Amino acid sequence: MRQHDRVDGIGHATHCPCCGASPVASLVLGGDREGLRYLQCSLCETRWHRVRGVCVNCHSPAEIQYYMLYEKSPVQAEACDACNTFIKMFRLDYDPELEAVSQNLIDQFLDSLVEQEGFVRLGFSPFSFHE
Ligand SMILES: [Zn+2]
Ligand SMILES: [Zn+2]
Repeated sequence: MRQHDRVDGIGHATHCPCCGASPVASLVLGGDREGLRYLQCSLCETRWHRVRGVCVNCHSPAEIQYYMLYEKSPVQAEACDACNTFIKMFRLDYDPELEAVSQNLIDQFLDSLVEQEGFVRLGFSPFSFHE
């Protein structure tokens, strides 16, 4: 897996600008900020803006695939063929209430689906996966 510095320009940071941790999820906003993508830090409460259409991890624009359990599912996985990682993507533009609802079951289905395709979840060690 290729690693990138935190010194990328605004909108391209892979790691949390506050604490340097990996993102745990990707959020696509609705309402006023429709379509903007933010990354959620896995350690602190920080969210930061990140451009869409390129891999969060390796910045490849071409190899992005989206996995979802059904059409327009608000819970999706953005997977990159170039570096074989994926990140969970929450579409608040599809379902603004998503944060309030427990999505654990959909989450687990989607995780195993994408992992079966051979992708590794971004920010998580592949060795602590199947415990
Ligand atoms: Zn952070
Ligand atoms: Zn990638």
